[in-house]
Amino acid sequence: MELLPAQRDTRILQRRSAVTERALGAHDAAIIACPQENTETALRELPFASLWQQLYREAKRAGSLRMLTARPAGSTAPVVLLFTAQNASAFDRLSAAARAWKELKAPPNARVLLAAHRIDAANSGELLEAMLAAGLAATAPMPTFKSKKVERPRLASITLMRDGASIDVDRTVAIDRGNHLARWLTTLPPNILDTLNYRRALQQLARQHGFGFKFFDEAALRRAGAGAFLAVTRANEHRGAGIVRLRYRSPARRKLGKVALVGKGICFDTGGINLKTHKGMYQMHEDMQGSAVAAGSLLALSELRVPYDIDCWLAITENQIGARAYRPQEVVRAANGVTIQVAHSDAEGRMALADTLALAAREQPDCIIDYATLTGACVNALTERFSGAFTNRPELHTLLEQTGRDSGERVWPFPMDEDFDSDLDSSIADILQCTPDSKGDHILAARFLNRFVPEDIPWLHLDLSASNRSGGLAHIPTEFTGFGVRYTAHLLKDGRLLKLA
Ligand SMILES: [Zn+2]
Repeated sequence: MELLPAQRDTRILQRRSAVTERALGAHDAAIIACPQENTETALRELPFASLWQQLYREAKRAGSLRMLTARPAGSTAPVVLLFTAQNASAFDRLSAAARAWKELKAPPNARVLLAAHRIDAANSGELLEAMLAAGLAATAPMPTFKSKKVERPRLASITLMRDGASIDVDRTVAIDRGNHLARWLTTLPPNILDTLNYRRALQQLARQHGFGFKFFDEAALRRAGAGAFLAVTRANEHRGAGIVRLRYRSPARRKLGKVALVGKGICFDTGGINLKTHKGMYQMHEDMQGSAVAAGSLLALSELRVPYDIDCWLAITENQIGARAYRPQEVVRAANGVTIQVAHSDAEGRMALADTLALAAREQPDCIIDYATLTGACVNALTERFSGAFTNRPELHTLLEQTGRDSGERVWPFPMDEDFDSDLDSSIADILQCTPDSKGDHILAARFLNRFVPEDIPWLHLDLSASNRSGGLAHIPTEFTGFGVRYTAHLLKDGRLLKLA
């Protein structure tokens, strides 16, 4: 089994022209976005106008006007007309584009045409970008172990027919690669992506993309005093757990600084000695998705050759049961000297992240972003549609939320005022790992992590409640969404966060 997804070779072309019958004839499938406003005028100017007008009237009578599908005369190529509001939000654009790709059922090796017909110049670029992003996401192959060979959803080419300025295709492709990597790794079964193979996969990724690679094994972490991380790894069957650091160094002459990306990589979470129940454990191979999103973000940003350095710190272990498993009421000391009173073995994510954040902070990055499938409380608060954002710079809340609106990966900032700390008072150690009940656990987890990030480093913590949603989310059709790569690329666009931090 390949540990990393294969590079895809779909060619992406841009043409400055309106949709013509000839252009449709040169492709095997097409999606044409049309405005919800003045639709009838727009339809009149399309090839095969009378067919579309008739279908439109019928759909209008039936009351379903989201899209039309047909194989116009003389062609076996499916065409989907997608109706969208000119000023739709990024999330709505991506969701509509995903529906159109699902409806299209493009044949294997198809040449697909994408067009925004009669859409304002201000919106047509964004709409085409969403259609491209959704197409790439829909045709990204995922690991499969079926003994019967399955046809990979490959496309030969995607042509963007535009009437406005050109689209930054490289950016969309880079983000897609990062997202694909995150979804691929998360989908791998836990007996394939164990800690050893995960490290191998990241080593391979580093070789392919010229990243520096360093692995802090248990012995190195013991020397670093990473007692919180090592408490979690104790019950593992083999000694493969550790922290991986991937390093991208920007080729830019004038660099904007250094970003640290940190991710939770629990390859399987049994809950530990406070064992999870059947349903709670069912998909716990996905508990490494935070680290996969961090690695995917690194991949996307490095492909864009961003003008700042990136260190990516991935906390890789399992959370197992066994005679050596860490227990409630143990006291352990993290790498920054903070002592922790353990309360619940299933709150292992914050233990593993505590030391990883502390190690990342030692190298004095200009900002830290961490990603984790951390708390059920965050899902209870937001459902799987949004992820939670927490920061030690509350003045960034507006930017953080707006970036979610702009990217289509929506986040919601939560408070993390200092007085929450009293809920984590310990009579015996510096801090309690978590409270025995789960009230506000997403906030308390953020307050806990805050103890391992020096105040002078701006820090964003993303609790990935939107990492797993049945039916997918926005342009992503799979249950594991890879949420966070697209968000990060928007947040760090032109080093914006570094300039504000
Ligand atoms: Zn857990």
